[in-house]
Amino acid sequence: MKVRLKHTLLFLLFFPSCFRSGGLPPQSEFVLDTLCTVNLFEGGTRERYAAVFARIREIDRMMSAYQDGSDTDLVNRNAGVSPAGVHPEFIGVLETALKYARLSGGAFDPSIGPLVRLWGIGTDREHVPSPKEIGEALSLVDYRDLVVDRERGTAFLARPGQALDLGAIAKGYAADEALRVIREAGVRRAIIDLGGNIMTAGSRRSGIPGFTKEEPWRIGVQDPLDERGTYLGILQVRGQSVVTSGVYERYFEQDGRRYHHILSTVNGYPAAGGLLSVTITADSSTDADALSTAAFALGWEKGSALVESIPGAGAVFVFDSRSVRCAGTIRPEGAPEDADGEGRIAFTLTNSGYRLE
Ligand code: ADP
Ligand code: MG
Repeated sequence: MKVRLKHTLLFLLFFPSCFRSGGLPPQSEFVLDTLCTVNLFEGGTRERYAAVFARIREIDRMMSAYQDGSDTDLVNRNAGVSPAGVHPEFIGVLETALKYARLSGGAFDPSIGPLVRLWGIGTDREHVPSPKEIGEALSLVDYRDLVVDRERGTAFLARPGQALDLGAIAKGYAADEALRVIREAGVRRAIIDLGGNIMTAGSRRSGIPGFTKEEPWRIGVQDPLDERGTYLGILQVRGQSVVTSGVYERYFEQDGRRYHHILSTVNGYPAAGGLLSVTITADSSTDADALSTAAFALGWEKGSALVESIPGAGAVFVFDSRSVRCAGTIRPEGAPEDADGEGRIAFTLTNSGYRLE
């Protein structure tokens, strides 16, 4: 598959005062079809970095829709034939995916595979399919045909031609697992950035050795209309994940129109809800990843209601009208706190070309 580096959408704002207590600088690898960077702010030994990347590669081999022998590939080859034996953790990810499929009424659907293949966005096959092709692929997308049997350790898609694609949740799961590996090694302060899917551990220590204070990590939210690396605002998080789904991540243009990679399970075309991006914060990166895609596909009304229904989750919706709205635990900086101000995440809009509503 042709690989494009259009993926780093969130990025870290580094400050000279943010020091690391020994260890190697951040390490990067191309895995999960994107650039992954792990930054251990303490205890960053070669072995620890190696262990984190080994775990991320393992998850990629299991979840990838493009690698022969992955669990996804096994389930897809056996669609309509027989249940396939898969790893217990793969079952866990499918269960979470099914949870979000149900909660979003199918707007997020892990059986989106036939549509993703048809459009081929990000590959050298990318093109606008015919309405007939779209109709056929769409008729195969239905998470209710996915049967997960935890006891037998199998997963099954009921109809031939159906296919899983976990592109909207796998990076989140990998970030959670990377965090687990880091924690088990005793590292408390780190940032894991899997192609813009960010997981933070602990808080940022600033100052000079001997005179330090603990502050939140400051994560930039990509300006969807500007160059990569240009942010429109800043989220302050301590230990949460920050994940964005947007129109600028993967797309192609044909006849002057842009076709992006989050597909509507209602009509089979790129989801068009007047949004440029949705950024989610949550304790779990798996949840944040699934929610970002679900909320984007659902649009503001239903998407923000979904976010509000998940404890601890927050969202920043960016509209093509250049307005910005927050939901859930995220509060614009300076907004009056609720009575239970606890657990709120501050968002600061820094680009005056956008309006907070
Ligand atoms: P990214 O992978 O760029 O971080 P997302 O998390 O939003 O962005 O995932 C988008 C990917 O999810 C697509 O490339 C495709 O593989 C898959 N996908 C597209 N539309 C849907 C959908 N409606 N439900 C579930 N997965 C989807
Ligand atoms: Mg996602």
